[in-house]
Amino acid sequence: MPCRIEAAAPPARPTPPPLPDALAWIADDLAAVRAADLERPRRVRSGRQGREVLLDGRPLLNFGSNDYLGYAGDVRLTKAASRAACAEGFGAGASPLVSGHSAAHDLLEQSIAGLLGVDAALVFSSGFAANAATLAALAGAEDFVASDARNHASIIDGCRLCRAAVGVYPHRDMAALDALLTQAAAARRRVIVTDTLFSMDGTVAPLADLCALARKHRAILMVDEAHATGVFGDRGSGLVEESGCAAGVHVRVGTLSKALGAAGGFVAGHDALIHWLRHKARAWIFSTAHPPAVAAAAARGIALLAEEPHRRRELLAAAAAVRDALAAAGVAAAAHGQIVPVVVGAAGRAVVVSTRLAEAGLFVPAIRPPSVAPGGSLVRVSLSWLHTVADRERLVAALVAALRQE
Ligand code: PMP
Repeated sequence: MPCRIEAAAPPARPTPPPLPDALAWIADDLAAVRAADLERPRRVRSGRQGREVLLDGRPLLNFGSNDYLGYAGDVRLTKAASRAACAEGFGAGASPLVSGHSAAHDLLEQSIAGLLGVDAALVFSSGFAANAATLAALAGAEDFVASDARNHASIIDGCRLCRAAVGVYPHRDMAALDALLTQAAAARRRVIVTDTLFSMDGTVAPLADLCALARKHRAILMVDEAHATGVFGDRGSGLVEESGCAAGVHVRVGTLSKALGAAGGFVAGHDALIHWLRHKARAWIFSTAHPPAVAAAAARGIALLAEEPHRRRELLAAAAAVRDALAAAGVAAAAHGQIVPVVVGAAGRAVVVSTRLAEAGLFVPAIRPPSVAPGGSLVRVSLSWLHTVADRERLVAALVAALRQE
């Protein structure tokens, strides 16, 4: 019997005391956030992640998770985690460099390397940490990093951390990237960094072109497969595998928290690169390893990719069907893969559309700045293998109606 932890009843809260003087500016900042329709609610989910979720006690058909393959609430992951927790205890107790790297972590790193077909992998407690720490290690003040304009925040922060000169090229613009790299010919190292599947746009990085430019400019190519891991490629390792460009990609980052249903991030590649990162990646060296139970659940998620390849195929077919149905109803949803963003423009409009969908029983989050550029707000449909045909039909009908209701 699955257990549920009920959200705590909200305590009767007295009116908060006035902000201390030193923090008074926060009230002004929050007022500005509200005025720009950018205030973020915090919803409490009770029960499992899945096809349907209880958000603030309300059952909603869930198009707002990264649980693409339906493994986040899968009892097989829970069992793997419980077994590891029984064998290895819950807390990792130390950084992986000291004594936190458990047998479960070791197996996980081998599973990741096997999935990607590379020598070795290094597990971090989050994908965010993996990106930021890897970039900060790879590049320094004498180096140059070229970053796609729509890269994830963890890459942007990695660029800031590393103190290299950073050139941001327009989204997927290879001519601009070529020019940036030419200008950076004198840098000690050149690094190109990109998401493979851009989660706010549903676009894909031109991997073959990126490999060619990396070769031409003797640059390091680092890719983040956070949203592609588990979904693309014959083995399910991502878009690098699907594009056949593995030999030209030097550094492969991914997360265990999306299609794989667990938590944590990884970087994978040549044995020497990974061993070097063990000496240089500060978020790995100076942060406690994530719990062995989490590592075991992630390894089970990876094993399921081989046992259930039909899930990723069916997911991608379902996504194509949703896009076609939206297009037939006149709704443009330019996208590739399991994420179907529908751009609506103003932040306030995205909130209105998302609210209408919630009224119709569907959770489709509004995505607003800073996650997207001002004026580019959207409602973001994330499909999961768990959705039924009827769920998807309901989504399309409700979305079309919500967009038309002006
Ligand atoms: N990269 C991308 C492209 C992401 O979307 C995310 C998560 N939103 C991350 C990295 C960070 O992964 P994690 O959630 O495991 O920290």
